[in-house]
Amino acid sequence: MENKSFNFCPNCASKNISFDFRRFTCNDCEMVYYQNVATATAVILRKDDEILFTIRNREPQKGKLDLPGGFTDPDETAEKSCQRELKEELNLDIPLENFKYLLSQPNNYEYKTIPYKTCDLIYEATFPIGTELVIEEDEIEAVKWIKINEINLNEIGFVSLRKAVEYYINNQ
Ligand SMILES: [Zn+2]
Repeated sequence: MENKSFNFCPNCASKNISFDFRRFTCNDCEMVYYQNVATATAVILRKDDEILFTIRNREPQKGKLDLPGGFTDPDETAEKSCQRELKEELNLDIPLENFKYLLSQPNNYEYKTIPYKTCDLIYEATFPIGTELVIEEDEIEAVKWIKINEINLNEIGFVSLRKAVEYYINNQ
């Protein structure tokens, strides 16, 4: 399927427009609109020598390994975004101060033929022992605990998270 884009200026409906992925410009009314990089978070949840992966239940990268996380909401801190996503996706309650920042990685996220650029912020947290996971089945097919020395990076869907997990493995 071909990528969708804008065909008209949303302000004056002119077709005399240019769109270079990041910036939309109307040459008639001079409207300029930036499609900026979005912030997203991902959490490496650690239990002993294992990491929790989710298996994606929707495109993009359906069926591939993923880390819990998602897009940061407006007016939200990255730590709050980690906390909210883990609650939504796995029903986990983790205090904000338990999320430790590791590194960031750029990513391409194509959703329904629209390409988005993200900057993924990767955090680490310890799995709260004795908690029961409740999976949000809309987004997640299953969870998989994998020993750190048995992780196959090629099974991880997003390039950003593959690099982050590789960094994590090498910097234990
Ligand atoms: Zn216009």
